[in-house]
Amino acid sequence: MIDLYPGVALYLARRRGLSLDGKEVTDREALPCFDPATGEEIGEVALATPGDVDCAARAAHQAFQDKRWRGKTPAERQRILLRVADLIERDAALLAGLETLNGGKLYGAALHGEVPHCAETFRYYAGWVTKLGGGTFEPSVPGARYHAFVREDAIGVAGLITPWNGALVAASWKLAPALAAGCSCILKPAELTPLSSLYLARLLTEAGVPDGVVHVLPGAGRDIGAALVRHPLVAKISFTGSTAVGEQLVRESAANFTRLSLELGGKSPVIIFDDADLDRAIPAAAEAIFSNAGQVCVAGSRVYAQRAVYDRVVAGLADHARAHRLGPGVDPASTMGPLISAAHRQRVAAMVETARSAGADIVTGGVTVGDKGYFYAPTVIAGATQDSTIVQEEVFGPVVTVTAFDDEGTALRLANDSRYGLAASIWTRDAGRALRLAEDLEAGIIWINEHGIPELAMPIGGVKKSGIGREHGLEGLKAFTETRSVMLRL
Ligand code: NAD
Repeated sequence: MIDLYPGVALYLARRRGLSLDGKEVTDREALPCFDPATGEEIGEVALATPGDVDCAARAAHQAFQDKRWRGKTPAERQRILLRVADLIERDAALLAGLETLNGGKLYGAALHGEVPHCAETFRYYAGWVTKLGGGTFEPSVPGARYHAFVREDAIGVAGLITPWNGALVAASWKLAPALAAGCSCILKPAELTPLSSLYLARLLTEAGVPDGVVHVLPGAGRDIGAALVRHPLVAKISFTGSTAVGEQLVRESAANFTRLSLELGGKSPVIIFDDADLDRAIPAAAEAIFSNAGQVCVAGSRVYAQRAVYDRVVAGLADHARAHRLGPGVDPASTMGPLISAAHRQRVAAMVETARSAGADIVTGGVTVGDKGYFYAPTVIAGATQDSTIVQEEVFGPVVTVTAFDDEGTALRLANDSRYGLAASIWTRDAGRALRLAEDLEAGIIWINEHGIPELAMPIGGVKKSGIGREHGLEGLKAFTETRSVMLRL
């Protein structure tokens, strides 16, 4: 077992307070935090109340009005965000420990993958702070001259609501662009994984983000999240989570026309043609669904394999599934961690059982593993019909269906036959075919001979029921700005 950095135990030794107006507030009801690899309680945080949402919204709004953050020069804000990145790297072992214990991550992946990626996210958006601008225009009003320009201004108070899978990454993907744009922020982490977000708030303060600009309120979605969405001082909600909750937010945001970005569920196809390099495609397809035990929004959960290579793809995926060693993230021998909770594992298992009852072939997996923690065996399913729940609905676990197709047109039709449209990958040596498909696939991000690589410069988000808006790139920054036109008559 890996000995976690001692700071992790120290951090967990006492109740962590919510981060409200620059203070750590602990005198609230306790929200216990669990390790999904053992089911054991590892610590507790203070549970925010709807009253705290109101306090945070007022304080964030005040901070926005008095310009204590957005009024700093862009260079100053850039320096502070760069310092955040350095502090994330300084405390990488602690953050990775929290993501492992609370989020069920493999420690190595958290330490060498997710945590450095968060630091890079702050660096990437720090770079934009000094470059964000509008434009000037020559109006066509007869008989009058103007100096006319368009500004990109911070939108105001941004409510940031994150899921439990990749808590720290999701928080960084929202906080970095929101702060780069000049917003004040209220972050509501998922109730299952609040620890790393609360620690990140400390680093923001240490880096020089003024008090009142960022608040972190752990609590349940139905009260804290909902109160945030309804609050009239919150100008923008950036939400990552399920499509069902996203639908609710669309309705609730209507009261104040609160601006919305929604990063929602997915059921991403992996299309493997018979000319693909299978030595790359099969391991990549396995990684696309089994990484983080399938709890990844862009997980490749529907594999479509051309008939000539179908058997090889099914067998290859099953081999990869069987080779996984399930265990806690602190065990260096583990290659797959647990699902996040007992309830989630039950839901995953029920979906696989429904597929089995409907006549699908569970090639491997389909069982829970161990008597401690929430492990579920990586599962490969063949012969499920296109209209079945297991092919149409997001499982959010290590479960992949494999379906045969004969030609390009059928592959496209099957891939697009989904209410989701987050990501897709195409595996072929025929670049023309890949680009043709890329034009017609209904997905926000498409990889060719690749799957799941996050790139901060490339916008990511969904079409159809996978969301509205984009994160990353300039679009991700503009999600936190409002465009305004100014015309000065000369
Ligand atoms: P979830 O929708 O249950 O919860 C997400 C967040 O919303 C949590 O913080 C939760 O407390 C909050 N919430 C719940 N109900 C709310 C309400 N009525 N009002 C306001 N907030 C509310 O999702 P989850 O189970 O935490 O996460 C898994 C889901 O997230 C999957 O569907 C996955 O695909 C999706 N996801 C999408 C992306 C993406 O980029 N598209 C990334 C990661 C996860």
